[in-house]
Amino acid sequence: MATSVDLVNQAPEGTKLWFLHLGNLECDDGWFKRAANASSASNKNPTNARRQLIMLACLIEHPTEGLILFETGAGDDYPDVVSPQISDVFARVEYNSTMDLGAQIAQTGHKVSDIKMVIMGHLHLDHAGGLELFRNTNIPIYCHELELKYAFYAVATKSDVGVYLPHYLTFDLNWVPFHGSYYEIAPGINLHHSPGHTPGLTVMQVNMKNSGTWIFTSDQYHVKENYVDDVPQGWLARDHEAWIKSHQKIKGLAKRTNAKVVLGHCWDTVRELGIEFAPKAYE
Ligand SMILES: [Zn+2]
Repeated sequence: MATSVDLVNQAPEGTKLWFLHLGNLECDDGWFKRAANASSASNKNPTNARRQLIMLACLIEHPTEGLILFETGAGDDYPDVVSPQISDVFARVEYNSTMDLGAQIAQTGHKVSDIKMVIMGHLHLDHAGGLELFRNTNIPIYCHELELKYAFYAVATKSDVGVYLPHYLTFDLNWVPFHGSYYEIAPGINLHHSPGHTPGLTVMQVNMKNSGTWIFTSDQYHVKENYVDDVPQGWLARDHEAWIKSHQKIKGLAKRTNAKVVLGHCWDTVRELGIEFAPKAYE
């Protein structure tokens, strides 16, 4: 892991960043926090608390690289492309067409066809569904080598199917892997391999001139309890030991860079950071 370049790699003058709101989910809290909703001897049938989640993405207008999209949400055709069981467990709620990926990008004054690069934090269905818009376009879809390998393997062998979908793990997308723990993918944009939630999960750090450093954690953290209170993830956790190591790394990175840390699905964090969605542009 590199440290000295964390803040040296500044986004050039004129870089803009938008938050895209791609819908909301409602699910059992047990997916996101270890032992949430667990029964005990004194409380054999606890009420199953449910959680309201946001799905979001980030669009960056970059003076030298063009338009960069970080993650894609569940896709405009969710839940039609998943099984009734999945859409019942991960229920998309309060959705309307203004939350379509194309509609959110239009709020920034751009079109989907303007995008020059997509960066994926990880390939679970609620982040990668929108990749359908990039079929046969030759737009590079950057993703960590280990995520790409694991996602295809998980679907092909059915070892972890349900969170990854064959729907978008296809050969008509221009997959481009990146390797190792750290990659300066563009001026001002650093990627950090942060395994745990998934083998190839990647955190994106953006050093903006005026608004400072933003860290987009994808689902290293679903909700603030994971990040702030060190509560491990629930049923969606995969490699706990790796998650703990990534957690330490990201906390250190955030402290060094005085970053605003944007979690995968946390409405509380969005409100606490005062995040405004497109058309509001951060510079
Ligand atoms: Zn997610």
